[in-house]
Amino acid sequence: MIVMKFGGTSVQDAKAIERAAAIVQERLPQKPVVVVSAMAKVTDQLLAMARAAGNCDRKNALKLCRALQERHYDTAGELLGTALFTRFHGDLATDFETLDDLLRGIAAVGELTPRTTDYVAAFGELLSSRIVTAAFSALGMDSSLVDSRECIVTDTAHTRAAPLFEETNERLRSKVSPLLTAGKVPVMGGFIGSTKAGITTTIGRGGSDYSAAIVGAGLDAERIEIWTDVDGMMTTDPNLCRDARRIKIISFDEAAELAYFGAKVLHPATVLPAVQKNIPVYVLNSRNPTCEGTQITARAPRCRNPFKAIAVKKRVTIVDVAAARMQLAHGFLRAIFETFDRHKAAVDVVTTSEVSVSLTLDSTESIPALAADLSKLADVKYEGRKAIVCLVGENLRDTPGIVGCVFSELNDVNIRMISQGASEINLTFVIEEDAVPEVVRRLHKKFFSDLDPEVFA
Ligand code: ADP
Ligand code: ASP
Ligand code: MG
Repeated sequence: MIVMKFGGTSVQDAKAIERAAAIVQERLPQKPVVVVSAMAKVTDQLLAMARAAGNCDRKNALKLCRALQERHYDTAGELLGTALFTRFHGDLATDFETLDDLLRGIAAVGELTPRTTDYVAAFGELLSSRIVTAAFSALGMDSSLVDSRECIVTDTAHTRAAPLFEETNERLRSKVSPLLTAGKVPVMGGFIGSTKAGITTTIGRGGSDYSAAIVGAGLDAERIEIWTDVDGMMTTDPNLCRDARRIKIISFDEAAELAYFGAKVLHPATVLPAVQKNIPVYVLNSRNPTCEGTQITARAPRCRNPFKAIAVKKRVTIVDVAAARMQLAHGFLRAIFETFDRHKAAVDVVTTSEVSVSLTLDSTESIPALAADLSKLADVKYEGRKAIVCLVGENLRDTPGIVGCVFSELNDVNIRMISQGASEINLTFVIEEDAVPEVVRRLHKKFFSDLDPEVFA
């Protein structure tokens, strides 16, 4: 069997869902399990209505919900035609009644917890998987809706829950495998799961890629296909640099590093379950399905170029923690990192000196509270509007002088932090967010003009 995951843009409207159906149809002999994201932007809209309800703004929450309902009804209507839609309509209506009740409940209490946030956010994938299943059936495929909450079992860390693999694999085998044996196409929503007690959870933003990998690993897939809106993993975000080129083949390690540092084409956790089982992953374009995309494999092929790609992570804050001289003694670093841990703040880049430590955090973290806590240990300063730029490539290991080559290209740029060596395959630095387009353009021109045709398209 294979897993085919379609992202938000690949199911964003009736035309996109029809394209996805045609792609799945081609693969029927390979026994696909289909994993879908919410329709594009729907998760953001659901979170916005949850927040409105949490602020007691019931009217606005329900208004946003009506717009969402209309979009889903329109899409289903267009895909199914009047006769089928009339029959299907009741299922969608029930979902929206439940969502309305939920929003009213949140607004009445005026409190939005991580648990209720997950309950609201899950509707995106619940609805899209329902519509996609109905559309596939209408187009002549024998498809079957699987409620992911009955298969993907997670811990209780709402909004970024971690899968419990043993339980999940067991459920996948008992609920999904029989459908494949019966010749059906199972369709599941990505991103969502539930605790052992049956409470709805989500596994982190962009998590449908991860769901695809969990399903693929659990069912021993021959391959996992991530269908998106670009031709594959590119040498940099094509929205940032028009010269970005397709990477034909990349190693798991390189792909994971790129994903972690902002190449959102693939969720960072995606590759792990696949790596562990040596399942190849492909990134493909649902608008250009004949393009070969990017193959992610256990070992990187030999490549003439030092780097495979440049990733950028924006909206980053630098936190500087400075101790008085001689204070940076035993236990200081531990105390600092324990503080980050208590606040569940994920640190990306770290640099140290005798008296200070600098770190970067996502600007979305609650930094003032963290800084207040840290200031009990040392002087703390923080500064937002920074970006992490990360050059990735396995050849970095044995290309002498490469670091000098990179920075001589940027000698007029204010570089705030530099980190190299941690994984041996990335060179990472922090700059002002405003400088990103120019820095990426220059580095791309320098390192991706003359490309190895074996590795790049
Ligand atoms: P989906 O909805 O299919 O999951 P995402 O929006 O999560 O799609 O990811 C696809 C997007 O990732 C692309 O539209 C592109 O803008 C962005 N992206 C960032 N870096 C890269 C890269 N190196 N290669 C390809 N796409 C990238
Ligand atoms: N719909 C979810 C999100 O937007 C998951 C995903 O699309 O991967 O974060
Ligand atoms: Mg994505």
